[in-house]
Formats: sequence, structure tokens, C-alpha cells
Amino acid sequence: MRYISTRGTAPALTFEDTMLTGLARDGGLYVPETIPQLDHAAIAAMEGQSYEDIAYAVMRPFVGDTFTDAEFRGCIDRAYAGFGHAARAPLVQLDQGHFLLELFHGPTLAFKDFAMQLIGQLFQTALARRGDKVTIVGATSGDTGSAAMEAFRGLDNVDVFILYPHGRVSEVQRRQMTTPSERNVHALALEGDFDDCQARLKDMFNDFEFRDGVRLAGVNSINWARVLAQVVYYFSAAVALGAPQRKISFTVPTGNFGDIFAGYIAKRMGLPIDRLVVATNQNDILHRCLSGQGYHKGETIPSISPSMDIQVSSNFERALFDAYDRDGGAVAQLMDELKAGGFEVSQGAMQALEEHFSSGRVSEDQTAAQISTTLIASAELLCPHSAVGVHVADEQRQAGTPMVTLATAHPAKFPDAVEAATGIRPPLPSRMADLYDRPERLTRVPNDLPALKAHIIAHRAT
Ligand SMILES: *Cc1c(COP(=O)(O)O)cnc(C)c1O
Repeated sequence: MRYISTRGTAPALTFEDTMLTGLARDGGLYVPETIPQLDHAAIAAMEGQSYEDIAYAVMRPFVGDTFTDAEFRGCIDRAYAGFGHAARAPLVQLDQGHFLLELFHGPTLAFKDFAMQLIGQLFQTALARRGDKVTIVGATSGDTGSAAMEAFRGLDNVDVFILYPHGRVSEVQRRQMTTPSERNVHALALEGDFDDCQARLKDMFNDFEFRDGVRLAGVNSINWARVLAQVVYYFSAAVALGAPQRKISFTVPTGNFGDIFAGYIAKRMGLPIDRLVVATNQNDILHRCLSGQGYHKGETIPSISPSMDIQVSSNFERALFDAYDRDGGAVAQLMDELKAGGFEVSQGAMQALEEHFSSGRVSEDQTAAQISTTLIASAELLCPHSAVGVHVADEQRQAGTPMVTLATAHPAKFPDAVEAATGIRPPLPSRMADLYDRPERLTRVPNDLPALKAHIIAHRAT
């Protein structure tokens, strides 16, 4: 199994190098050269299997000979052992034909744990074998950073630096990043918004001297291994609801397009998915694009679903690569136009996108109202991101096809928004109830590449 860049000129890599590299050297993102197929019988065989069994069956063909069967299985088992739910990704019914996929039972209460816990195990196994060390730098709108620090804290072959937008993450998110005491994890509060954090991270990857000097690795959803780990729960959910005998649709609260792109990969592997519905908040570049209005950057407006406050969705590049028949030159040109503000999607590519994806946009008021409506109608307390998803799913679901909305975070991660909508302040699960008492450690940093590079070089332990 080899991986190629969406911009067509970086060298093809193995799974191991793809995972340890992150961004391709031509600025593109790695995707598998071919998509492994699971046939009807292989999917039917997943019925009644554990999450870990399904994870192994879905991901094994992508990994090639990077890991032995036993190594890979061990990584999967250790990754999910610390989850607070035996099913890992349980389904809850909201209404006739509408289900919620709870992805928030991991250690930091958001779906990011599914990929990050696994990547922690995979990095550790690969780096120990190579006798190698890396510096991980990540950009976060809140949940990726906490999940990464939780997954990598205390490992001696990895330093982790997380850039988050100062003042724009929830208190729980911030504390999850600033309270780990291990010296190899560092929270950096950047003067700017999430798109600034993501842009500075890309700058670091494109600065080859720095990149090679610190052995830079990335764990943002530009990292293929993250996307791969998220493919699994589309299978586990669909099979629980009757796949492969029937089609299932999914609605996904979307920011960087990583989670929903994993659903697209599941579909390409053979899972009978009908619609993949993109749900956005008021930062709606993806909804505008999928409605035929081109892909044009706007100002990021802070919302009550901050993990989706994104105007440049990095993984959308992977979808465009397929929509443009895997023409890396065409994608590179679109990304150049994006630097200048945006681009129009060709008619053929639009048709290719519309074959799989639908979209909807939810206002702040609608999001808050949905949290309250769902609590009354279905006795479920949603986080604001999940509420965006449920709202769009209710508008778009069709009789006869079960709809699964991904619940991307636990309500206790966003207690202010949930309390404002319902009057109920959701408590943290008991295993992290002391979060508000732990001492915090963070560094304020400017939105400036040279200063960031200098800080990272000076504070690496490895
Ligand atoms: C990261 C995140 C999202 C957006 O996921 P993408 O993969 O970036 O589309 C949505 N909700 C929550 C709670 C998140 O943490």
C-alpha cells in the first residue's frame, strides 16, 4: 500500500512514512493510491463483533507491512482500553430512523480521541523500532490539542507543541491542554484565530530546514492515520443498523472535513452509505461551496460550536483531488487561487461532489434551540456541535433510510453553551472531576513564524 500527494509531485510513501510525515513536501495531503475494498460478506461478518475487531478488519489493508498483525492488533486494543464505554462508539436512538453515534467516551470527551489514542500507540511502536524521535506540532480549535497531549504525554521519543487560539477555546478544552504535568507536552496560546494557528503550522512544514532539523511530525487531520482511524465507526454504526443489507446516511458536524472524509472513504471501501451530510455552523464555507457558490474564504466568526469555527477546511483538498479525477496539478492550482481568496469548482467536479455529499448550515439561535428541543423530545443533552448535526439531519433525512448523526463531543466540554440553552450545567464524568483544581501551564506566543520556531527549538527535550 502506497500513499500519494494530492498535489502530484511529492514522492509516494509507505503507511509508516505517511504517518510520521503529515504534510507532503509539495504542500499536498497524502491519500492511498488505491482504496482497499471490503465485499458484502466481509462487511456482513462484522455483525456482532467488538469495536476492536471491526477496527482491525477495516484498517489492516491500509497499513501494509508497517506493522505485523500482532503489533497492529495490540495498538488497537491499547488505544481503546481507556474509553469510558464498553461499546466505544455506542448508538442512541433519537427518533424513528434517527440515531446519535456517541463519539465522546474517550479520555478527552471528543471524537478526536478515536484517532489520537491510536496514533499515540502507532507512533510509539514505530519510533521505538526505528530508534527515532520526533517533534509533533499541532494546531487546534480545542479538541485535537487536548486529545494529542493526552495520547502522547510522558512518551520519551516525542515532544508535543500545541498551538491554540488564545481566548477562543472553552475552559474545559483549555484546562485539558494546560494541566498535563509531563514535560514533553506544551500548550502555546497564539494571538490569533484557529486559521492563523493552522497557517503557521503549514508554514513550519513548508520550512524544510526547520522541518528536518526538529524532525517535525503532524497529528492534525492532514495526517492520513487520523482519517483512517475515523473510518471504523462508520462501519460499526452502519452494521449495527442493518448494513450491508440496507443503506445508511450520516450527518457530520464539520470543520476541517476530516471526520466526514472518513465517511467518504468508508463508502469508497464498499460500505453502503446513501448520503454524507455536511453540517456547518455560521462559518459555512463548505455549505456555500457544496451549494454551488465556489470556495471563498470569509472572516471566521466565533460561535458556540468553536471546534467548527474554520474557514479553510484542510481535508476538503482530499475530496477535491478525487472530484478532479486525481489531477494533482489541478488541485495545486486551486490551492494557489485559495491563497488569493478562493476559487470556483468546475462543473464536473461539482457533480462528483454532489454524488456523495449534501450540506446544511445552522445559525447560533437554531443551535441553542436544538439543544433544548432534543432534550425535551428525546431526553438527550447534546453538545453544541452535535446539535448543529442533529438540526441539519432532521431537515435532510429521508423515510426508509436510517440517519446517523455523529455526536462529536460530550456536553460537559461546552457547559456554558449547554447551560444557556437548557438551564442545565452538565457535570464532567467522575474520572476527570478534578480538572478545575489542577494547576495550569501555558505560554502566550505571537502569530509570528520566527518566534514560534525559536520557542520550539529552545523547549524541546528530545
Ligand atoms: C474537530 C471537531 C469537529 C470538526 O471535525 P472535522 O474533522 O474538523 O470536520 C466537530 N465537533 C467537534 C466537537 C470537534 O472536536
